Amino acid sequence: MSKSRSDNQAPGLKVVRVPDCPVCGSNDVLVAFEATSETREQFRNLSEKKYLGKMNGWEDALSLNISYCPACDHHWHAEQPDKASLMSMYAAPMKGRGDRKAPENIALDEAIAKQARNVFAMVSAKKRSQATLLEFGGGLGRWGNAFQAAGFDVTAYEPVSERTERGNHSTDKVVRDLAQLDGVEFDAINIEQVLEHLTDPVGEMRRLKEFCTKNTVIRITVPNFSKFATKQDPWVDFPYAGRMHILSPYEHLQGFSARSLQTVLLRAGYKEISLSRLIQACAGRVIARRFVGACSPSLRETAVYAVPNVG
Ligand SMILES: [Zn+2]
Repeated sequence: MSKSRSDNQAPGLKVVRVPDCPVCGSNDVLVAFEATSETREQFRNLSEKKYLGKMNGWEDALSLNISYCPACDHHWHAEQPDKASLMSMYAAPMKGRGDRKAPENIALDEAIAKQARNVFAMVSAKKRSQATLLEFGGGLGRWGNAFQAAGFDVTAYEPVSERTERGNHSTDKVVRDLAQLDGVEFDAINIEQVLEHLTDPVGEMRRLKEFCTKNTVIRITVPNFSKFATKQDPWVDFPYAGRMHILSPYEHLQGFSARSLQTVLLRAGYKEISLSRLIQACAGRVIARRFVGACSPSLRETAVYAVPNVG
């Protein structure tokens, strides 16, 4: 690989180019946003204000261009930092990046607790022993704690130990590496606003099948870029104008639509299931009536439920 002019300014940073659609694999790709010198200036501002300068110089190495795939309605960063650089970015202490600590009392976050009880109702109805859940991307523990409180035996996967340490996990099962879970199968896997952070969402979802039985319930939420873009010009405030952008470099690498999220599931070998069908299948009609209305509208638009597609 040729040495880029930025190597001195951003030591250790390697550029990962993603020319084809990371969701459907199409090479019929458009440039949705082409960065200017003003973009790079705003990025520098983002790095200073939110990341204590951690990403300074990355704007010289990485194009900041955004690609678009018409086939599956997906947006993504055409050039991304390598995994080690991403991890170092996440490990740095940050200001106002949404790193909310898990509340001491989980009941404080009732919206999350309700979602957790929904999933527990689906899974536990047909199970005699305690239901297990993998929190994929444990973060500070907010969601894992809610699932624990709902009745699950929770294992959290969080590759960035600094985040685990800043967090407040009620489970003592926090792993940094999925290899530590070799041979373990879970009744449910929760993937809360994680896929948009990954360079290869399809590959990561395929990997997770190792931890599934044919009945494992997968719950996924992602920010919906396409919906965001129907409400406003998505590039006016890109990459930074005082608050996090939905494609904020380099945390949000992927900009999903409903279609591209479905495509991830399909290509990774899962089938989407409506929440009402899932609850009916698992827990019967009475519980279904009680729970279906309990999903908040904002989450419904970005949340999907799936099970492994075993043919
Ligand atoms: Zn695509």
